[in-house]
Amino acid sequence: MRESSPMSNSPSPNGPTLLLRYTDGGVTPTQLREYISDAGFFQPLRQTLGLYVHIPFCRTRCRFCSFYIEPHRVQQVRAFLQAAIQEIEYYAHHIGLRDVPVETVYVGGGTPTTLHPQELNGLLQAIRTAFMVRPWAELCVEGHPASLTLEMISALVKAGWNRLSLGVQSFDVRELRMLGGRPSTRVTQQALRLAKAVGFHNINVDLMYGLPGQTLETWRASLEDLLAFAPTHCSCYALTVEEGSIFFEESTRGRMVEPDPALQNAMEAMASSALQHAGYEQYEISNFSQPGYACRHNQRYWRDEPYLGLGPSAQSCLGSLRFGNVGNLSAYCSILRNERLPIDELDFRSSEQVARETVVFGLRLLQGVPDKKVSPLLQAQTEWKRALQSLKDEGLLVHERGRLRLTALGRRYADTVAVALL
Ligand code: SF4
Repeated sequence: MRESSPMSNSPSPNGPTLLLRYTDGGVTPTQLREYISDAGFFQPLRQTLGLYVHIPFCRTRCRFCSFYIEPHRVQQVRAFLQAAIQEIEYYAHHIGLRDVPVETVYVGGGTPTTLHPQELNGLLQAIRTAFMVRPWAELCVEGHPASLTLEMISALVKAGWNRLSLGVQSFDVRELRMLGGRPSTRVTQQALRLAKAVGFHNINVDLMYGLPGQTLETWRASLEDLLAFAPTHCSCYALTVEEGSIFFEESTRGRMVEPDPALQNAMEAMASSALQHAGYEQYEISNFSQPGYACRHNQRYWRDEPYLGLGPSAQSCLGSLRFGNVGNLSAYCSILRNERLPIDELDFRSSEQVARETVVFGLRLLQGVPDKKVSPLLQAQTEWKRALQSLKDEGLLVHERGRLRLTALGRRYADTVAVALL
């Protein structure tokens, strides 16, 4: 192992943030257990956990995507699954998380359904064997409409997955072609029908707006197609051109027209009104659900509740400790083969950072953040108090009925608010 910072002294969780960065080699389970303990994770008696597993494989790269992915190859899949099961067992048995109740399991990617259903179910079985997964846990798997065959859906339902999340992005043929890596509208509609008929009651559909060439009419048509299926949950995201995506390359070469912010705002307003009119609640900036179907896993991130990420590039946060896995499949597998955890970044958040992040993440939820989370910062941080006041004066934040919330304008500028308050 080659370290750029020594790991021999445990940093204090209440001191300044220490960033420990590994160039390779990972961390021993004993070292990590000590850090998690120092971060105060094992102290509260009622601690719970959300598990995220990153499946890094896709058949092709969508043009807007900047995630870490690998092309699907049988050998690599085999090596990944072996390593992931080893990682699960390390956390349960060596780190001591096996008795912490798991409330949510979210398998995302990448495209989890590039794996065979038996492989996905084997992963779920390994998690259930190693951890204390609650009987009522949300068990969500992301799927690509093109890989959702009858065999796949039936096997997933039978194994107990109770939520399916589909990256549909658009129901418009031309937009799907432009996004790349997407199936036809017909295939998507068939997959949605099949998933419902075979037994997935709780389904999320992701849609994207602000796409090149998209108009208010095509966006309205996509929303209508979505509502015709009445999924329990819908995420509507504005296209952002991220570094590392094909769109980014095209945009830097002047071959792509950047999304028009005014049109994006109009599309956002249209989605919000259409979905709310159809009975969906907007509970987060980009997320809508039928009553009782808000995504329990994602809410953990916004409530700053503990989560453990498994798989290449997955991120974790346990108490004040935050750490991330190496974003490279072969390094991930080889570090685990060497009986270490494939972590390449780790830092302790100071108590002030935890308090600020709890407020900033919580503001993404429409219900906002309760006073008891805001007051300690107001009392101790004069500069923070000033920043908060100026955001209120600009009409981005409002304090009412014991909670701090983003206004409708603030939701549009949520990133600006986050930067000011972090
Ligand atoms: S399917 Fe998802 S992860 Fe894979 S390339 Fe497309 S957007 Fe990226």
